[in-house]
Amino acid sequence: MSDRQYSRADLKGVLPEAHFIDGAHRKAAGGETFATIDPSTEEMLAAVARGGAEDVDLAVKAADRASRGDWRNLTPAERGRLMFKLADALEADAERFALLETLDVGKPVKESLGDVRGVCATIRYNAGAADKMEGATIPLGPAFVDFTMLEPVGVTAHIVPWNYPLGMVARSVAPALAAGCTAVVKPAEQSPLTALAFAELCQEVGLPKGVVNVVAGYGEEAGAALVAHPLVRGITFTGSVETGRKIYMNAAAGLKPAVLELGGKNPMIVLGDADLERAAYDAIDGAFGNSGQVCSSSSRLLLQREIAEEFLERLAAHAQKLAVGPGLDNLDLGPLVSKEQYDKVQAYLAAGRRSGARVRLGGDRPKALERGYFIAPTIIDAVDAGNALVREEIFGPVAVAQIFDTVEEARALANGLGYGLVAGVYSRDISKALTLARDLEAGSVWINGWFIGGVQAPTGGIKDSGIGRERGLPGIRNYLSIKNVGIRL
Ligand code: ADP
Repeated sequence: MSDRQYSRADLKGVLPEAHFIDGAHRKAAGGETFATIDPSTEEMLAAVARGGAEDVDLAVKAADRASRGDWRNLTPAERGRLMFKLADALEADAERFALLETLDVGKPVKESLGDVRGVCATIRYNAGAADKMEGATIPLGPAFVDFTMLEPVGVTAHIVPWNYPLGMVARSVAPALAAGCTAVVKPAEQSPLTALAFAELCQEVGLPKGVVNVVAGYGEEAGAALVAHPLVRGITFTGSVETGRKIYMNAAAGLKPAVLELGGKNPMIVLGDADLERAAYDAIDGAFGNSGQVCSSSSRLLLQREIAEEFLERLAAHAQKLAVGPGLDNLDLGPLVSKEQYDKVQAYLAAGRRSGARVRLGGDRPKALERGYFIAPTIIDAVDAGNALVREEIFGPVAVAQIFDTVEEARALANGLGYGLVAGVYSRDISKALTLARDLEAGSVWINGWFIGGVQAPTGGIKDSGIGRERGLPGIRNYLSIKNVGIRL
């Protein structure tokens, strides 16, 4: 509770409202704007440029020029050096970025500050790797020399969601820059502010103009135009399955590769022999962190019958202590990002109550908070396996528990959905845990911990949860194409 509270006055400077294209602020070509809302107060924060095809065309052409000119002419080590400078500048300006993020999406300032630190780490990891991406020599026999050259794919598009607005920009833009590509970012319409400020910072630290461009606006307008632009040679998207499918189909029309990180309904399997306190503690962050608006949240708790009641009691005891309030108050949980998201979560809760599921904790907005898109941490159990609460991604602070008897049952429940992003196992029996790790259908499996990983560890989904991997060195390879050079001696 000793965390500092903030006020709007702590944000020095103005809110960014214009696109950032070719090293300069630009109003929308059509002059239109859209409102970005503070979800803690429901008030309008800023009228931001509403991008369309014309703005996207300017940005992509600027990125194309930079990718053939100033950016391409630097050595990888020089690119890395500029990126290290960018990370240092962001670190020095962390509070401003954190406040912009908190105002735009409502997360507590301490969380936003943590996100900015994560972005600095991401940029530094990729900066250090810029001059370490090597090709190979291929053994064709004594009469030949054959080798590969890794080349930047060119202009890359980054379509990002609103749950970690700056984090998601950095996750894909930093490896793209390390690979020597240039970027056009389309932030989510709910949260454009930090991406716009980030592009400006790139310019300030000396990245050539056109290397990082940001076009704000709606998905169907700016986003779709970006995916369709013929000069875009790679697309990275994080967001919903439905939008991912659309983007993949539109990318296919231009034969463009796409990396897609989509939703999840991630099972946390707690076996009878698990360290229950550890598991319950992790489930607090796993299910309620960022108010549950996390693709890799532990939104399905699969509990072995003999420990289910004790686990749920411990979880409820911890969850009760979570303080909910405006992001600037810097408590444990902020609001949901938008009215749309708030209504969606409320609709799931209402349908759950009608279906006979038991709400053990929360289930509605906290009574003391009259404005803002707040939902109290919620724990639900006694849900049947066909219920939408255990099949669909809710994206709110809602933990839903299901009970199983045998490990086989747990595996079947875990693998029984279309999603395959993350799965977790809690057990003191390493053999049991690793057997499940082998069998669980997910891009990541975590054992005796949740949110394990960092910029070094690849992440991504299988099945409906996506295509491709981000972070780590595979994250950089997304932006490199392999050229094979063969020589007859
Ligand atoms: P949500 O439904 O949670 O708002 P989406 O997956 O629809 O999330 O949005 C994630 C990002 O994708 C946002 O930046 C959004 O503007 C963008 N987007 C939405 N529809 C499209 C589309 N048809 N083409 C390109 N981008 C889109």
